[in-house]
Amino acid sequence: MIPGFLRDLEHCVLCEWRCGVNRLAGERGVCGIGTPEVAAAMLHPAPPASYTIFLAGCNFRCLNCQNWEIAQYPETGEPVRGLVEPRTMAEEGLAALRSIRGRLIGADRLFFSGGSPDPSLPYIEEVVREARRRDPGVKVNYDTNGFMTEASLARVLEVSTSITCDIKAYHDDVHRALTGAPVAPVLRNAREIARNARELLWEFRFLVIPGITGDEVAPVAAFIADIDETIPFNLLAFRPNFVLEHHPRAIQYLMEEAVREAQAAGLENVRVHGYRGVAGEPPHARALPVRAGEDILARTIAQRAGCPTESRDCATCRLQQQCPIRRYRAKRSR
Ligand code: SF4
Ligand code: SF4
Repeated sequence: MIPGFLRDLEHCVLCEWRCGVNRLAGERGVCGIGTPEVAAAMLHPAPPASYTIFLAGCNFRCLNCQNWEIAQYPETGEPVRGLVEPRTMAEEGLAALRSIRGRLIGADRLFFSGGSPDPSLPYIEEVVREARRRDPGVKVNYDTNGFMTEASLARVLEVSTSITCDIKAYHDDVHRALTGAPVAPVLRNAREIARNARELLWEFRFLVIPGITGDEVAPVAAFIADIDETIPFNLLAFRPNFVLEHHPRAIQYLMEEAVREAQAAGLENVRVHGYRGVAGEPPHARALPVRAGEDILARTIAQRAGCPTESRDCATCRLQQQCPIRRYRAKRSR
């Protein structure tokens, strides 16, 4: 018996791929998942400290994915908890937030992440309904890659008290090369959140990947500053992951340069996360093909990993359901 809250999945248009497939009848869209499945759930100290629920699956195929075992489920065959009853998930989350450890780390909200939570939106809404039935004041963070439809975004704004949103690149060719998806819906949704739901926006996040996204810092920062210069912008330092497991990490010099560029674009609230003072020599960074052909470098790496397309458009790709990127197995552990 299919729970009523999953009816959306009978003609799934939750994200901008708008696949229109019946996920409950075994059809699969770009994300490749059927019913929503919880990969893991735990207290998490990263700001905003929370009880984080990781949903399996993703509508992107990012070469750099740090949660690839979860995001590229079910291809990875990772064990997941499955479709946990929303009531059970809500009760678990509330109990964790009230626990001693939850209070010690300052966890004050349920945080939905992944993979991408977008293919699991109806499930998330049901978990939040159950949680708010027990605690009407419980906060909810939605962590997104920004690729939901406008209708889904309206639903996200309805359930959320905070939103963390990735902007992975500004230019379409770089965004596609890195993620397999176009950037326009992401920028549209980012603009909508920043303009009309500013009070919900915790931060925009941007991953600095040497030679791939370095040139994107300034245009992304300018895009945000043009809306509101006070919006928090969190620059994350790349560490080798997934298909980019042999790619050089973002060294201190690149991160400092990224901060300078974001501030020069007008942003007042620039944060840095994840590099922990990793040193490096500027000449080494300069020796990389930084600032030229960023999309070409990412596409070349994707092609070496088996992606046969020039455009990296996962919706039209003949290999969509046998995607070699999704089946990539990183040899390095995180
Ligand atoms: S990729 Fe998006 S539209 Fe397609 S089935 Fe998954 S969630 Fe639905
Ligand atoms: S092989 Fe096809 S589905 Fe897989 S990442 Fe490349 S374009 Fe996307």
